Amino acid sequence: MNKQQINIIDSFGREHDYLRISLTERCNLRCMYCMPEEGVHLKENSKYMSKDEILLLANSFVKLGVKKIRLTGGEPLVRKDVAEIISELAKLDVELAITTNGILIDKYLNIFIDSGLKSINVSLDSLKKGKFKELTRRNYFDKVMSNIELLIENNFHVKLNAVLIKDENDDELIDFIEFTKNKPVHFRFIEFMPFDGNSWDKSKIVSYDSIIKIATEKYGKDLIRLTDKKNDTSKSYKISGYLGTFAVISSVTNPFCDSCNRIRLTADGKIKNCLFSNSETDLLSALRQGENIESLIRKSIWDKKEIRAGMNTMEDFSDPAEHHKNRAMISIGG
Ligand code: SAM
Ligand code: SF4
Repeated sequence: MNKQQINIIDSFGREHDYLRISLTERCNLRCMYCMPEEGVHLKENSKYMSKDEILLLANSFVKLGVKKIRLTGGEPLVRKDVAEIISELAKLDVELAITTNGILIDKYLNIFIDSGLKSINVSLDSLKKGKFKELTRRNYFDKVMSNIELLIENNFHVKLNAVLIKDENDDELIDFIEFTKNKPVHFRFIEFMPFDGNSWDKSKIVSYDSIIKIATEKYGKDLIRLTDKKNDTSKSYKISGYLGTFAVISSVTNPFCDSCNRIRLTADGKIKNCLFSNSETDLLSALRQGENIESLIRKSIWDKKEIRAGMNTMEDFSDPAEHHKNRAMISIGG
C-alpha cells in the first residue's frame, strides 16, 4: 500500500497525524472569549462519546497514521472518567498531551506521571488575581498558580496559553515575558479568534506584529528568534539569559494553514477538519451504526479547504455571519 492509502491526506497533500479530542463541553471556568455568558446548551449524555467510544475512535485514527493525541474540551479534567481515558490512551503508540485550565492538576498529577505525559498546556490569561477573575468569571487564580508550580517541580514541559485581548490583558505582555526569566515555562500568546457568542471584533486583536514590536522595544538585541518545529502553529522567541521561552500563535493575522496537520473530534463525536469550519462529519453515529469509520475520516479530511475553512481574506474572516455559523469554542475543543 502506498502512503496515500495508509495515511490521512487532504486534497492539497497535507498529511494529518495530530488528533485533538474534546472530552466534554463542560467547564469549571467561564472565560469570556470562549464560553458565551449565558453558557452553552448541553445535550443529553447519550449524545456524547462514552469512554469506550473514545478509545475505539482513537484506535481508528492511530491505525490511519495519527501520531499525537491532545485531550481538550471544555475542561477535560472535569470529566469523571478522565483518569481511565488517559491511562488507556497512553497505551497507544502516540504522544499523548493535554490542554487544561489547571484547576484540577493536583488531583490528577499521579495519573499524568504514571501515563508518561510529558507536556501539559495550561491556560493563564493574567498574572493578576482580580483580572484573572474578570476574564474567567471565577476565582481560581491561586489554585491555578500553585498547580503550575507543581508541574514545574515535577519536571513537566509546561506551556502557558494566554489569549491577548486589547484593553483587557495586553498591558501584561512584558510581565508575561518576565515570568519566563526564572521559570522554565513556554508562554504562548494567542491572537483572539472569533467564535459564536464571544463578541469578537477586529479591534480587540493584539497582533503578532504588535507583540513583537513591543518586545523589540523593551529587549532590543536580547530578543532572540528561535527555530520552529515542522507543523508548529507558533513563532518562538526567548530573551537572552532567561530560563523560559515564549511564542505567538497568529491564527488571525498570519494563519499557519500551509502546514496544518490537525483533526478535531468534538465531544459529541463529530470531526471538524478545521477550527473555523462549520461542516462536520458525524463519526459517532456512524460508529454506533456499524459503518466504515476509516473512509469517513479520510473523506472529511480530503474535503478540507486550503485556508481557514474557505475564509481566505481578512474581510471574509471579519464577517460576523461567518462566526455565528460555527460553534462556540467551548463546544469545538480548542
Ligand atoms: N479548558 C482548557 C483550557 O482552557 O486550556 C482546554 C480547552 S480551551 C477551549 C483550549 C484553548 O483554547 C485555551 O488555550 C484557550 O485559551 C483557547 N481559546 C478559547 N477561546 C479562544 C478564542 N476565542 N481565541 C483564541 N483562543 C481561544
Ligand atoms: Fe473553559 Fe478553557 Fe473555555 Fe476557559 S478556555 S471557558 S477554561 S474551556
